[in-house]
Amino acid sequence: MSPRRVLALAASLTVAGLVAATTVTPASARSAAGAADPCPGSGAIPIGSLAAAVRSGCSLVGRMVTDGRISVMVPPAGMSVAGDGVGTHGEVRGLTVTNTGTTVRAVRDSAGAVSLGHTTSARRGSPPACKDRTSNLEGPKWKTGLRYHVNLKGLPGRLHQSKVVKQIRKANGNMRTGRNTCGKPRLRTPASVYLGRTKAKPDIGAGGPSCRKGNSQNVVGFGNLPGGLLGWTCYWFFGSRMAGSDMLIDNGPNLVTNLPKNCTNKWDFEGTVTHEWGHAYGLAHSGSGHDNLTMQAILSPCSTYARTLGLGDWIGMNKMYGHRH
Ligand SMILES: [Zn+2]
Repeated sequence: MSPRRVLALAASLTVAGLVAATTVTPASARSAAGAADPCPGSGAIPIGSLAAAVRSGCSLVGRMVTDGRISVMVPPAGMSVAGDGVGTHGEVRGLTVTNTGTTVRAVRDSAGAVSLGHTTSARRGSPPACKDRTSNLEGPKWKTGLRYHVNLKGLPGRLHQSKVVKQIRKANGNMRTGRNTCGKPRLRTPASVYLGRTKAKPDIGAGGPSCRKGNSQNVVGFGNLPGGLLGWTCYWFFGSRMAGSDMLIDNGPNLVTNLPKNCTNKWDFEGTVTHEWGHAYGLAHSGSGHDNLTMQAILSPCSTYARTLGLGDWIGMNKMYGHRH
């Protein structure tokens, strides 16, 4: 067994151990003496009610924390879970939930976009991609290579399977190596391995979307994302160490692997997935007014610009992984 396999196994055992430790004493067991159950409810917790839920002293592990339509499941102690995506318009705002062992915190992605009727004109009002140094990091990064599978269940029939897999792999390379037109060198991100097709599903609920429990397998899959979302990535981490990430790509009519000649309201598949890999590798959104960067939360239609990293995107990845000299 290679060192990398051993490390991956150790990581998954850690997760399993934590899950087991937190489920030894279910909250329901405490009411066995006949007293009123001090921990009623197993439903979702709106982000505004989280502090009160923490004060109740009940275990919140496995409960969903919701912020508007999106939700993230409270992880075992020591772990964090986050979701973030990219859209055609509207609001795209990520959510991170951390279980420190003594408290549970939820943090909104502060650079998330709120935009209506986004068009290509927004890109003209922003600095050019190679002049915009804006970068935001989520916090964790990969210490070893990101190994992933692709699940093509739910892929729209109009998209070719081989083309889709090819673009998912190219998109991974775009982000991982820092492909750019700004003259910046290749990044030293740990090597990534495409492990082939799988029947395992990303641990992401499409409605919402929601980030669930997670596991040791990283899966890219397809689903019906709401509200103009083109992609959504959930990632699971321990402090600064990324442990897993899944990606859900929208199966609606917006994404195309080849932009049509007379293009309106179509978005580039490879560019969209490049953005999502950015989340998987640890990048957060660039914020509004930075519409030529790949990590802008709202992707402009009818362009392949997001396939190459802007200066800020490259700088963010370089801060985490460094580059070749
Ligand atoms: Zn995003």
